[in-house]
This record gives sequence, C-alpha cells and structure tokens, in this order.
Amino acid sequence: MIDFTIPEATAALAAEIRRFVIDEIVPFEADPRLTQHGPTDELRSEMVELARRRGLLTFQAPRRFGGREPSHADQAVLYEAAGWSTLGPVALNCAAPDEGNMYLLAKIANDEQADAFLRPVIDGHQRSVFAMTEPDGAGSDPGQLKTTATFDGTQYVINGLKWLITGAAGAKSWIIMADVVDNPHGASGPTLFLCDGATPGIEIERIMSTMDRNYVAGHGVVRLYDVALPASSVLGEVGQALRYAQLRLAPARLTHCMRWLGAAERAQAIAIEHARVRRAFGKPIGEHQGVSFMLADNAIALQNCRLAIWWACWMLDQGAKGRHESSMVKATVSEQLYQVADRCVQVLGGIGISDETPVAMIFRDMRAFRLYDGPTEVHKYAIARKLLSHNA
Ligand SMILES: Cc1cc2nc3c(=O)[nH]c(=O)nc-3n(C[C@H](O)[C@H](O)[C@H](O)COP(=O)(O)OP(=O)(O)OC[C@H]3O[C@@H](n4cnc5c(N)ncnc54)[C@H](O)[C@@H]3O)c2cc1C
Repeated sequence: MIDFTIPEATAALAAEIRRFVIDEIVPFEADPRLTQHGPTDELRSEMVELARRRGLLTFQAPRRFGGREPSHADQAVLYEAAGWSTLGPVALNCAAPDEGNMYLLAKIANDEQADAFLRPVIDGHQRSVFAMTEPDGAGSDPGQLKTTATFDGTQYVINGLKWLITGAAGAKSWIIMADVVDNPHGASGPTLFLCDGATPGIEIERIMSTMDRNYVAGHGVVRLYDVALPASSVLGEVGQALRYAQLRLAPARLTHCMRWLGAAERAQAIAIEHARVRRAFGKPIGEHQGVSFMLADNAIALQNCRLAIWWACWMLDQGAKGRHESSMVKATVSEQLYQVADRCVQVLGGIGISDETPVAMIFRDMRAFRLYDGPTEVHKYAIARKLLSHNA
C-alpha cells in the first residue's frame, strides 16, 4: 500500500523549521550582506547562530555527529520547509555545497579526516568546497578531468584550473578532484583529495559574476599550482573519485530539488496574494482566466515535483543507489520549478522582475539549478542510454 502520511514528529519539525525561517531568516533577505556573490561569511555566521540557538542547526547530520539523521523521505519534508527563504538552508547549514560534502565525508572520511574537516563543518564553524569543474576539462563529463596529481611516494603534487567552485573564498575544508597520473607507487586515476583551503598553491583568481546569489561567497575560479599534499590527504581510495562523486550526487540532487521546491512554493504564495489584490479591467487579476490558469499550472507542477521527490527518496530509503531515479527527478523538477518561478514573475507584472519581492531572486537562482548537479540534457542522455542498453 502507498501511504503519503507524514510522520507526526517530521511534520512538527518541519513546522518549527518553517516558523524559524519566516520569523528570523526572511528579514535578512533585505540585508546588504546578501551580495551579488551570495551571503557574506559574516551574514552566514549570524544566521547560523540563530539556528543553533533554536536547536535546528545541521538537523540532517548523522546521529554519530550529533544530528537527527532523518530518512531521505523525512528530509524531503524538512528541506522543503527550509527552502521557504533562499537563505533558510544557509542558516540551517543544509545548503549546497556543504550539505552534499558533509554527506560524502560522513560516508568515506577516516576518523582523523572527519575530526579535521567534517566536524567543524557540521558545527557550522567552517565551510567546505567540492572542486571538480574545469574550463577545458571536467564538467558534464567528469571523465575529461585535466587536473593532475603526481605522486613521488611521499606526497602528491596537484596542478590544474577549476571554475564555478562554490564558496571557494574563505572555505577551509576542500575536496579536490584530480587525476593521479602514471603512478609507479600504486593505483592511479581520478581521485578525491581532502585538504585545508589555506594550503599553499590554492589560489583564488577571481569570483565570477553570476545570475544567482544565494551560495555563500559565490563561485570562484581557482588555480591549483604545485599544491603539495601528504598521502594521508587521499579521501577514500585512489582512482575512485567518479564512484564517490556519484555517491554524493544522487542524494545531493534530491536535496537541491527539495530546497527549490520550498522556494517555488514561496513564489507561488506571493503570486496568489498578488492575484487576489491587484485589479485590472474591473476585477482582481486572479479572476482572469489567463492568470488563474498560471496559478493552477503552478499548483499542479508543485505537487508533481513533490511526489516525484518523495518517490526517489523512498527508493533511496529502500537501499537503492537511486542514480537513475534521481536523474529523472532532477531533470523534471528543475525544469518544472523554473517554469513555476517564471509564471510567478508574469503574474506579478512589472514588479516581478524587481527586488520588491523575492520572486525575481528565486527565478534567477532557479535558472542556475537547471545546470548544476547535471544539466537537464545530460540527465536525459544518461536516462536514454540506460533505456537503450541491453541490460535496462
Ligand atoms: C550555480 C553553480 C554552482 C556550481 N558549483 C560547483 C561546485 O561547487 N563545484 C564544481 O566542481 N562545479 C560546480 N558547478 C559546475 C557544474 O557542476 C557544471 O556547470 C555542470 O557539471 C556542467 O558542466 P559545464 O558547465 O562544464 O557544461 P558542459 O559540460 O560544457 O555542458 C554544456 C552544455 O552542453 C550540453 N551537454 C553536455 N553533455 C551533453 C550530453 N551528453 N547530451 C546532451 N547535451 C549535453 C548541456 O546542455 C550542457 O548544459 C556549478 C555550476 C553552477 C551553475
């Protein structure tokens, strides 16, 4: 039997999270420290302390690290509540990239690595980075990785150029993907390294100007120049980076969907209110069919997205890896929510593209969501490849 009942404790926690976000975080949306390059570290720290005081910080962390360890299905409800403000997940410490990085590190970091690079992120005292994408190498196809790591038997020396690296400026826990080449001392291939952002040779060339503005410290171009790391900085095993990246990606794609579902709901609530009070041609605009259909299409899309997310979460909770399912869900949710946000802008008329409401900001950020953690076309490519393979 399929049961859509939300457990009482989960519903209560979601209500608490939503209340916290509305009462304490929404006001920061007008704070000048929410810049074109995302919230500053100062703003982030202030909001994190508010969440800590409410006992809500990093609620998703594994129990062994002091969190509540909700199931994937429970996370769907909780992250949706957090996403009501684009700053909510930042405050609660369940925003990208930290959330996905914490998930991965909890799975594969050893005790020493977890103490140095995971616990401080869970505690909200440090931020983290996942550095994979390159201007002329890894992107949709991580197999094109160009950054190299050479091993002399004692240390690895990393060289390469990364970009679109979220949160690079000021982050301490860095996960870097590099290709261990021609290693006479052991295994080779794409590998994850874990190190301090202050390691010599990690140079942030610039912060890119982007459409979105809700990731702390924006997105950086990072030169890795003779970054020397001890053998102990390998995360997991040499040559396994692509497998680990997949481990991180399936749930991380879904948590993006959950957070943006919350933001799209907020945009819809603002559009509905506007359609009730704004009048044109003798009646509220919501009574014109053109507007009412947009709002109805939004309600249908929001519920479609919610159900799709819940389904994929259920698969993960049953122990499935969820690669195919999370691809399907990410592709459809990012496209549908983007259309929801676009229709909300339309219902608002001219103010829809202004910062008089958060809808324009949600719309711009939603555009980026169609690209990261796999552009829609790449998910469709992977889905179709599976369909066409003989083992499907
Ligand atoms: C806001 C934001 C934050 C990001 N944060 C990070 C981060 O923290 N760390 C990090 O490493 N990266 C990050 N990225 C990078 C992101 O992972 C890449 O943008 C994404 O993987 C796509 O790679 P690309 O930009 O190189 O595009 P490309 O790989 O060059 O692809 C360009 C386009 O080609 C098309 N395409 C590619 N392959 C196929 C295919 N098989 N079939 C059909 N069409 C295809 C798609 O339309 C795609 O959009 C971020 C990106 C954004 C937008």
